[in-house]
Amino acid sequence: MTQTESPRGAAERVDDALAVAEALCAERGKRFTPIRRKVLELLLRHQRSLKAYELLDEIREVHPNATPPTVYRALDFLLEEGLVHKVDSLNTFMACGDAAGAPHNLLVVCTGCGAVAEIHDDIVRNRLANRIERAGFRLAGHEMEVKALCQACLAKNPDAIQHHHAH
Ligand SMILES: [Zn+2]
Ligand SMILES: [Zn+2]
Repeated sequence: MTQTESPRGAAERVDDALAVAEALCAERGKRFTPIRRKVLELLLRHQRSLKAYELLDEIREVHPNATPPTVYRALDFLLEEGLVHKVDSLNTFMACGDAAGAPHNLLVVCTGCGAVAEIHDDIVRNRLANRIERAGFRLAGHEMEVKALCQACLAKNPDAIQHHHAH
């Protein structure tokens, strides 16, 4: 999640990710329809996670007749194919930054702006899963979310960390 990226670099990153998504869908015999592509493209362009209604507003600029189910169906497909992650703690969606790579097991979510960092760390995940089982629970999904603040939000609000501790 680099914020200093040039617009050209960002456009290439989006194109590359769309090409990866298209290849993965073709490989799996799934249809990468224009609306699925558009939803993924919008998520890729924003370097943060988005609420479904934010997506719908943007989709309507291109497809004026789009309805919430149109967007939800496209999101369901993208989630199923591992191209998008759902961020439960913010109720938002984000494009997977590395859909062809290893599955991510930690999503670090900025509660300030919705930015998400994807982390793959089996050691941390397994240790946490073991500890959770010793407490009598079992993880309900593959991904775990960790609430955090990104650099940009910390810079805007240097006291935020203290506030969190004060709870
Ligand atoms: Zn991912
Ligand atoms: Zn942030």
